[in-house]
Amino acid sequence: MSGDLYQRLGIGRGASADEIKKAYRTLAREHHPDKGGDPELFKGIQEAHEVLSDDRRRQIYDATGSVNEGGGGPPGGMGGMAAGGVPFFMSQMGPFGMPGVNFDMGDLLGSMFGGGGGGRRGPARGGKSPDKHQDVGLRLEQFYKGTDIKLKFNQARRCGMCNATGAETTEPCGAGCNGTGFRMVHQQIGPGMVVQSRAQCDACSGSGKRVLRMCKGCQGKKFIQKEKVLDIKVLPGMVVGETLTFAGECSDMLEYDAPGDVVLDLKLAVDGAPKYEWHGVDLTYKHYVSFAESILGFECVLSDHPSGESPKYSWRGGPLINGSVLKMEGGGMPKRSGGFGVLHLQICVRPPPTVAWSAEDAAKLAGVLGAPSVTIMPEGVKELLLDSAESVFN
Ligand SMILES: [Zn+2]
Ligand SMILES: [Zn+2]
Repeated sequence: MSGDLYQRLGIGRGASADEIKKAYRTLAREHHPDKGGDPELFKGIQEAHEVLSDDRRRQIYDATGSVNEGGGGPPGGMGGMAAGGVPFFMSQMGPFGMPGVNFDMGDLLGSMFGGGGGGRRGPARGGKSPDKHQDVGLRLEQFYKGTDIKLKFNQARRCGMCNATGAETTEPCGAGCNGTGFRMVHQQIGPGMVVQSRAQCDACSGSGKRVLRMCKGCQGKKFIQKEKVLDIKVLPGMVVGETLTFAGECSDMLEYDAPGDVVLDLKLAVDGAPKYEWHGVDLTYKHYVSFAESILGFECVLSDHPSGESPKYSWRGGPLINGSVLKMEGGGMPKRSGGFGVLHLQICVRPPPTVAWSAEDAAKLAGVLGAPSVTIMPEGVKELLLDSAESVFN
Protein backbone atom coordinates (compact mmCIF):
# COMPACT_ATOMS: atom_id res chain seq x y z
CA MET A 1 0.00 0.00 0.00
CA SER A 2 1.29 3.40 -0.92
CA GLY A 3 2.32 5.74 1.88
CA ASP A 4 0.96 8.66 -0.06
CA LEU A 5 -2.69 9.39 0.67
CA TYR A 6 -3.37 10.74 -2.81
CA GLN A 7 -1.86 7.68 -4.41
CA ARG A 8 -3.97 5.43 -2.21
CA LEU A 9 -7.04 7.05 -3.72
CA GLY A 10 -5.49 7.26 -7.19
CA ILE A 11 -5.99 11.01 -7.44
CA GLY A 12 -3.77 14.02 -8.08
CA ARG A 13 -2.59 16.53 -5.50
CA GLY A 14 -5.09 19.08 -6.69
CA ALA A 15 -8.15 16.84 -6.47
CA SER A 16 -11.38 18.57 -5.42
CA ALA A 17 -13.47 17.46 -2.46
CA ASP A 18 -15.89 15.83 -4.88
CA GLU A 19 -13.16 13.91 -6.66
CA ILE A 20 -11.85 12.66 -3.32
CA LYS A 21 -15.30 11.49 -2.31
CA LYS A 22 -15.91 9.78 -5.63
CA ALA A 23 -12.56 8.04 -5.65
CA TYR A 24 -13.06 6.86 -2.10
CA ARG A 25 -16.52 5.43 -2.80
CA THR A 26 -15.33 3.50 -5.83
CA LEU A 27 -12.29 2.06 -4.04
CA ALA A 28 -14.10 1.32 -0.81
CA ARG A 29 -16.69 -0.69 -2.72
CA GLU A 30 -13.99 -2.55 -4.61
CA HIS A 31 -11.80 -3.37 -1.59
CA HIS A 32 -14.38 -3.83 1.16
CA PRO A 33 -13.37 -6.77 3.33
CA ASP A 34 -16.98 -8.01 3.22
CA LYS A 35 -16.47 -8.50 -0.50
CA GLY A 36 -13.16 -10.27 -0.07
CA GLY A 37 -10.97 -7.15 -0.12
CA ASP A 38 -7.70 -6.83 1.79
CA PRO A 39 -8.54 -5.35 5.23
CA GLU A 40 -5.20 -3.48 5.42
CA LEU A 41 -5.70 -1.91 2.03
CA PHE A 42 -9.25 -0.96 2.96
CA LYS A 43 -8.04 0.65 6.17
CA GLY A 44 -5.50 2.66 4.21
CA ILE A 45 -8.16 3.89 1.81
CA GLN A 46 -10.35 4.86 4.73
CA GLU A 47 -7.51 6.73 6.40
CA ALA A 48 -6.72 8.60 3.20
CA HIS A 49 -10.33 9.61 2.83
CA GLU A 50 -10.56 10.66 6.46
CA VAL A 51 -7.56 12.96 6.23
CA LEU A 52 -8.10 14.37 2.76
CA SER A 53 -11.80 15.08 3.22
CA ASP A 54 -11.02 17.22 6.27
CA ASP A 55 -9.73 20.58 4.95
CA ARG A 56 -7.62 21.32 7.98
CA ARG A 57 -6.05 17.85 8.18
CA ARG A 58 -5.48 17.86 4.43
CA GLN A 59 -3.65 21.17 4.70
CA ILE A 60 -1.43 19.82 7.44
CA TYR A 61 -0.80 16.66 5.47
CA ASP A 62 0.06 18.62 2.34
CA ALA A 63 2.52 20.76 4.22
CA THR A 64 4.18 18.15 6.37
CA GLY A 65 3.25 14.70 5.17
CA SER A 66 1.91 13.96 8.64
CA VAL A 67 -1.57 12.55 9.20
CA ASN A 68 -1.64 13.69 12.82
CA GLU A 69 -3.91 16.59 13.39
CA GLY A 70 -2.14 18.82 15.80
CA GLY A 71 1.08 17.09 16.57
CA GLY A 72 1.88 15.43 19.84
CA GLY A 73 0.05 12.28 18.89
CA PRO A 74 1.56 8.95 18.03
CA PRO A 75 3.43 8.57 14.79
CA GLY A 76 1.09 8.19 11.91
CA GLY A 77 2.87 5.34 10.22
CA MET A 78 3.24 7.34 7.07
CA GLY A 79 6.44 5.83 5.80
CA GLY A 80 8.38 8.18 8.01
CA MET A 81 7.97 11.21 5.84
CA ALA A 82 7.86 13.57 8.74
CA ALA A 83 8.87 12.66 12.22
CA GLY A 84 5.71 11.63 14.05
CA GLY A 85 4.46 14.01 16.67
CA VAL A 86 6.55 16.96 15.64
CA PRO A 87 4.94 20.15 17.02
CA PHE A 88 5.31 21.75 13.66
CA PHE A 89 4.80 25.34 12.97
CA MET A 90 5.06 27.24 9.76
CA SER A 91 4.63 30.96 9.95
CA GLN A 92 3.60 31.50 6.35
CA MET A 93 1.86 28.29 5.62
CA GLY A 94 -1.01 27.66 7.88
CA PRO A 95 -3.51 28.84 10.38
CA PHE A 96 -1.63 27.30 13.27
CA GLY A 97 -0.99 29.81 15.96
CA MET A 98 1.77 28.07 17.82
CA PRO A 99 4.90 30.06 18.56
CA GLY A 100 7.96 28.82 16.84
CA VAL A 101 10.88 29.53 14.66
CA ASN A 102 10.83 28.94 10.99
CA PHE A 103 14.00 28.31 9.08
CA ASP A 104 14.39 27.40 5.52
CA MET A 105 17.83 25.99 5.25
CA GLY A 106 17.13 24.44 1.92
CA ASP A 107 19.51 21.87 0.63
CA LEU A 108 22.09 22.61 3.25
CA LEU A 109 20.13 20.59 5.73
CA GLY A 110 18.21 18.55 3.23
CA SER A 111 20.73 15.77 3.34
CA MET A 112 20.82 15.74 7.13
CA PHE A 113 17.15 15.14 7.23
CA GLY A 114 17.29 12.35 4.77
CA GLY A 115 16.16 9.79 7.32
CA GLY A 116 12.69 9.79 5.92
CA GLY A 117 14.06 8.85 2.54
CA GLY A 118 14.47 12.40 1.31
CA GLY A 119 18.25 12.51 1.05
CA ARG A 120 19.89 14.41 -1.70
CA ARG A 121 21.46 12.24 -4.33
CA GLY A 122 24.04 12.93 -6.97
CA PRO A 123 25.73 16.20 -7.75
CA ALA A 124 23.63 19.16 -8.72
CA ARG A 125 23.08 19.34 -12.44
CA GLY A 126 25.10 21.75 -14.43
CA GLY A 127 28.38 22.31 -16.21
CA LYS A 128 30.45 19.75 -17.99
CA SER A 129 30.78 16.17 -16.79
CA PRO A 130 34.28 15.01 -15.75
CA ASP A 131 36.67 14.03 -18.52
CA LYS A 132 37.25 10.36 -19.15
CA HIS A 133 40.89 9.28 -19.38
CA GLN A 134 41.77 6.19 -21.35
CA ASP A 135 45.23 4.65 -21.75
CA VAL A 136 46.24 3.70 -25.26
CA GLY A 137 49.16 1.25 -25.37
CA LEU A 138 51.36 1.51 -28.47
CA ARG A 139 54.38 -0.52 -29.46
CA LEU A 140 57.67 1.29 -30.03
CA GLU A 141 57.39 0.87 -33.81
CA GLN A 142 53.93 2.48 -33.72
CA PHE A 143 55.44 5.53 -32.07
CA TYR A 144 58.27 5.46 -34.65
CA LYS A 145 56.15 5.24 -37.78
CA GLY A 146 52.90 6.73 -36.51
CA THR A 147 49.65 4.81 -36.68
CA ASP A 148 45.87 5.13 -37.01
CA ILE A 149 43.74 3.45 -34.37
CA LYS A 150 39.99 3.30 -34.18
CA LEU A 151 38.51 3.33 -30.70
CA LYS A 152 34.95 2.01 -30.58
CA PHE A 153 32.62 2.55 -27.67
CA ASN A 154 28.97 3.04 -26.84
CA GLN A 155 28.15 6.69 -26.46
CA ALA A 156 24.92 7.74 -24.76
CA ARG A 157 23.23 10.91 -25.91
CA ARG A 158 20.28 12.66 -24.29
CA CYS A 159 17.05 11.61 -26.03
CA GLY A 160 15.90 14.62 -28.02
CA MET A 161 12.30 13.46 -28.26
CA CYS A 162 11.69 13.63 -24.52
CA ASN A 163 14.54 15.96 -23.55
CA ALA A 164 15.93 13.11 -21.42
CA THR A 165 12.86 12.79 -19.26
CA GLY A 166 11.95 9.34 -20.58
CA ALA A 167 8.35 10.45 -20.78
CA GLU A 168 6.12 11.46 -23.64
CA THR A 169 3.49 12.83 -21.27
CA THR A 170 3.72 13.59 -17.59
CA GLU A 171 1.60 14.87 -14.78
CA PRO A 172 2.81 16.72 -11.70
CA CYS A 173 4.18 14.36 -9.05
CA GLY A 174 1.50 13.64 -6.48
CA ALA A 175 3.66 11.83 -3.97
CA GLY A 176 4.26 14.65 -1.57
CA CYS A 177 6.14 17.26 -3.57
CA ASN A 178 3.16 18.70 -5.40
CA GLY A 179 5.14 18.95 -8.62
CA THR A 180 7.97 20.94 -7.10
CA GLY A 181 10.43 18.08 -6.86
CA PHE A 182 10.97 18.90 -3.21
CA ARG A 183 9.06 18.40 -0.05
CA MET A 184 9.40 20.17 3.24
CA VAL A 185 10.88 18.28 6.16
CA HIS A 186 10.65 19.46 9.74
CA GLN A 187 12.87 18.83 12.65
CA GLN A 188 12.44 20.03 16.17
CA ILE A 189 15.71 21.51 17.41
CA GLY A 190 14.47 22.82 20.74
CA PRO A 191 11.28 23.58 22.59
CA GLY A 192 9.06 25.32 20.13
CA MET A 193 11.86 25.54 17.61
CA VAL A 194 11.34 23.73 14.37
CA VAL A 195 13.69 23.75 11.45
CA GLN A 196 12.05 23.50 8.11
CA SER A 197 14.11 22.31 5.23
CA ARG A 198 13.71 21.08 1.71
CA ALA A 199 14.51 17.54 0.68
CA GLN A 200 14.39 16.01 -2.75
CA CYS A 201 11.18 14.10 -3.45
CA ASP A 202 11.84 10.36 -3.61
CA ALA A 203 8.89 9.50 -5.74
CA CYS A 204 9.98 11.63 -8.69
CA SER A 205 13.70 11.98 -7.88
CA GLY A 206 13.29 15.70 -7.79
CA SER A 207 11.84 16.06 -11.28
CA GLY A 208 8.41 17.02 -9.96
CA LYS A 209 6.81 14.88 -12.63
CA ARG A 210 5.23 11.48 -12.90
CA VAL A 211 5.50 9.58 -16.17
CA LEU A 212 2.14 8.88 -17.80
CA ARG A 213 3.39 7.60 -21.13
CA MET A 214 6.89 6.43 -21.86
CA CYS A 215 8.94 8.13 -24.58
CA LYS A 216 9.01 6.05 -27.76
CA GLY A 217 12.35 7.45 -28.83
CA CYS A 218 14.32 6.03 -25.90
CA GLN A 219 11.79 3.54 -24.43
CA GLY A 220 11.86 5.57 -21.23
CA LYS A 221 15.63 5.22 -20.82
CA LYS A 222 16.21 8.98 -21.28
CA PHE A 223 19.31 8.26 -23.38
CA ILE A 224 19.98 6.77 -26.76
CA GLN A 225 23.10 4.66 -27.16
CA LYS A 226 24.98 4.53 -30.39
CA GLU A 227 28.31 3.14 -31.42
CA LYS A 228 30.91 5.86 -31.64
CA VAL A 229 34.27 5.45 -33.36
CA LEU A 230 37.11 7.79 -32.50
CA ASP A 231 39.89 8.08 -35.08
CA ILE A 232 43.16 8.25 -33.25
CA LYS A 233 46.01 9.53 -35.40
CA VAL A 234 49.37 8.95 -33.78
CA LEU A 235 52.03 10.93 -35.66
CA PRO A 236 55.76 10.14 -35.72
CA GLY A 237 57.37 12.18 -33.03
CA MET A 238 54.60 11.74 -30.50
CA VAL A 239 55.86 10.47 -27.18
CA VAL A 240 54.72 8.52 -24.14
CA GLY A 241 52.62 10.67 -21.82
CA GLU A 242 51.22 12.75 -24.65
CA THR A 243 47.43 13.10 -24.67
CA LEU A 244 44.89 13.30 -27.45
CA THR A 245 41.67 15.07 -26.51
CA PHE A 246 38.31 14.47 -28.16
CA ALA A 247 36.12 17.29 -26.92
CA GLY A 248 32.63 16.41 -25.71
CA GLU A 249 32.79 12.73 -26.67
CA CYS A 250 31.88 11.37 -23.22
CA SER A 251 28.38 10.05 -22.75
CA ASP A 252 25.73 12.52 -21.68
CA MET A 253 24.84 12.34 -18.00
CA LEU A 254 21.67 13.45 -16.31
CA GLU A 255 23.53 15.49 -13.72
CA TYR A 256 25.43 17.62 -16.23
CA ASP A 257 24.55 19.98 -19.04
CA ALA A 258 27.40 19.00 -21.32
CA PRO A 259 29.47 15.86 -21.78
CA GLY A 260 33.13 15.82 -20.81
CA ASP A 261 36.08 15.12 -23.07
CA VAL A 262 37.56 11.75 -23.89
CA VAL A 263 41.27 12.09 -23.20
CA LEU A 264 43.60 9.39 -24.52
CA ASP A 265 46.92 8.95 -22.74
CA LEU A 266 49.64 7.44 -24.93
CA LYS A 267 51.53 4.64 -23.20
CA LEU A 268 54.30 2.30 -24.33
CA ALA A 269 53.17 -1.31 -24.57
CA VAL A 270 55.95 -3.85 -24.05
CA ASP A 271 55.99 -7.61 -23.75
CA GLY A 272 58.59 -8.57 -21.20
CA ALA A 273 61.77 -6.57 -20.81
CA PRO A 274 62.02 -3.70 -23.30
CA LYS A 275 64.85 -4.18 -25.82
CA TYR A 276 65.28 -0.46 -26.37
CA GLU A 277 65.35 2.20 -23.69
CA TRP A 278 63.68 5.35 -24.92
CA HIS A 279 64.69 8.78 -23.58
CA GLY A 280 63.53 11.88 -25.42
CA VAL A 281 64.31 11.12 -29.05
CA ASP A 282 67.23 8.80 -28.25
CA LEU A 283 67.31 5.05 -27.96
CA THR A 284 69.69 2.82 -26.03
CA TYR A 285 70.24 -0.79 -27.03
CA LYS A 286 72.37 -3.33 -25.19
CA HIS A 287 74.56 -5.17 -27.69
CA TYR A 288 76.47 -8.27 -26.64
CA VAL A 289 79.85 -8.92 -28.29
CA SER A 290 82.35 -11.70 -27.89
CA PHE A 291 85.76 -11.04 -26.35
CA ALA A 292 87.30 -11.34 -29.80
CA GLU A 293 84.75 -8.84 -31.22
CA SER A 294 85.57 -6.42 -28.42
CA ILE A 295 89.17 -6.49 -29.69
CA LEU A 296 88.75 -6.96 -33.45
CA GLY A 297 85.53 -5.01 -34.03
CA PHE A 298 82.11 -6.29 -35.00
CA GLU A 299 79.08 -5.75 -37.17
CA CYS A 300 75.48 -6.21 -36.15
CA VAL A 301 72.03 -6.12 -37.74
CA LEU A 302 69.27 -4.70 -35.53
CA SER A 303 66.36 -6.74 -36.89
CA ASP A 304 64.10 -5.44 -34.11
CA HIS A 305 64.82 -1.74 -34.69
CA PRO A 306 61.52 0.22 -34.52
CA SER A 307 62.05 1.54 -38.04
CA GLY A 308 61.48 -2.01 -39.24
CA GLU A 309 64.40 -1.57 -41.65
CA SER A 310 66.93 -3.80 -39.86
CA PRO A 311 69.84 -1.35 -40.03
CA LYS A 312 73.34 -2.82 -40.16
CA TYR A 313 76.02 -1.17 -38.00
CA SER A 314 79.70 -1.97 -37.71
CA TRP A 315 82.61 -0.99 -35.44
CA ARG A 316 86.26 -0.99 -36.43
CA GLY A 317 87.49 1.64 -34.04
CA GLY A 318 89.62 -0.41 -31.65
CA PRO A 319 89.24 -2.48 -28.49
CA LEU A 320 86.20 -1.90 -26.29
CA ILE A 321 85.74 -2.61 -22.64
CA ASN A 322 82.52 -3.86 -21.12
CA GLY A 323 80.06 -0.95 -20.74
CA SER A 324 81.43 1.13 -23.63
CA VAL A 325 78.78 3.14 -25.44
CA LEU A 326 78.87 3.68 -29.20
CA LYS A 327 76.73 6.32 -30.91
CA MET A 328 74.86 6.31 -34.19
CA GLU A 329 73.36 9.64 -35.23
CA GLY A 330 69.94 9.24 -36.79
CA GLY A 331 69.42 5.78 -35.31
CA GLY A 332 67.00 7.03 -32.64
CA MET A 333 63.33 8.00 -32.65
CA PRO A 334 61.83 10.54 -35.06
CA LYS A 335 61.85 14.18 -33.94
CA ARG A 336 58.72 16.23 -34.32
CA SER A 337 60.79 18.92 -36.03
CA GLY A 338 62.13 16.37 -38.51
CA GLY A 339 65.14 14.12 -38.39
CA PHE A 340 65.94 11.46 -35.83
CA GLY A 341 67.61 11.13 -32.47
CA VAL A 342 70.67 9.11 -31.55
CA LEU A 343 71.00 5.37 -31.08
CA HIS A 344 73.34 4.40 -28.25
CA LEU A 345 74.80 0.92 -28.46
CA GLN A 346 75.80 -0.13 -24.99
CA ILE A 347 78.46 -2.79 -25.38
CA CYS A 348 78.35 -5.85 -23.19
CA VAL A 349 81.46 -8.02 -23.59
CA ARG A 350 80.99 -11.72 -23.03
CA PRO A 351 83.95 -13.28 -21.18
CA PRO A 352 86.23 -15.48 -23.26
CA PRO A 353 86.11 -19.23 -22.63
CA THR A 354 88.50 -20.69 -20.08
CA VAL A 355 91.37 -22.16 -22.06
CA ALA A 356 94.47 -24.02 -20.93
CA TRP A 357 96.97 -22.08 -23.01
CA SER A 358 99.96 -23.91 -24.34
CA ALA A 359 103.22 -22.12 -23.59
CA GLU A 360 103.52 -21.34 -27.28
CA ASP A 361 99.98 -19.80 -27.58
CA ALA A 362 100.45 -17.90 -24.34
CA ALA A 363 103.66 -16.39 -25.66
CA LYS A 364 101.89 -15.46 -28.94
CA LEU A 365 99.04 -13.85 -27.04
CA ALA A 366 101.47 -11.99 -24.81
CA GLY A 367 103.31 -10.85 -27.90
CA VAL A 368 100.14 -9.35 -29.42
CA LEU A 369 98.32 -8.01 -26.35
CA GLY A 370 101.30 -7.22 -24.17
CA ALA A 371 103.09 -9.54 -21.74
CA PRO A 372 101.68 -9.80 -18.21
CA SER A 373 103.77 -7.93 -15.69
CA VAL A 374 105.92 -10.13 -13.51
CA THR A 375 107.04 -9.02 -10.10
CA ILE A 376 110.14 -10.52 -8.59
CA MET A 377 109.14 -11.42 -5.06
CA PRO A 378 111.62 -11.48 -2.16
CA GLU A 379 112.57 -14.93 -0.91
CA GLY A 380 110.03 -16.70 1.29
CA VAL A 381 106.92 -14.64 0.32
CA LYS A 382 104.08 -16.90 -0.73
CA GLU A 383 101.87 -16.11 -3.72
CA LEU A 384 98.13 -16.11 -2.93
CA LEU A 385 95.54 -16.98 -5.59
CA LEU A 386 92.44 -14.80 -5.78
CA ASP A 387 88.89 -16.18 -5.69
CA SER A 388 86.26 -14.53 -7.91
CA ALA A 389 83.51 -12.69 -6.02
CA GLU A 390 81.36 -11.88 -9.04
CA SER A 391 81.97 -11.55 -12.70
CA VAL A 392 83.04 -8.18 -14.03
CA PHE A 393 81.13 -9.12 -17.18
CA ASN A 394 77.38 -9.03 -17.42
ZN1 LIG B 1 7.67 14.31 -6.36
ZN1 LIG C 1 13.08 9.79 -24.98
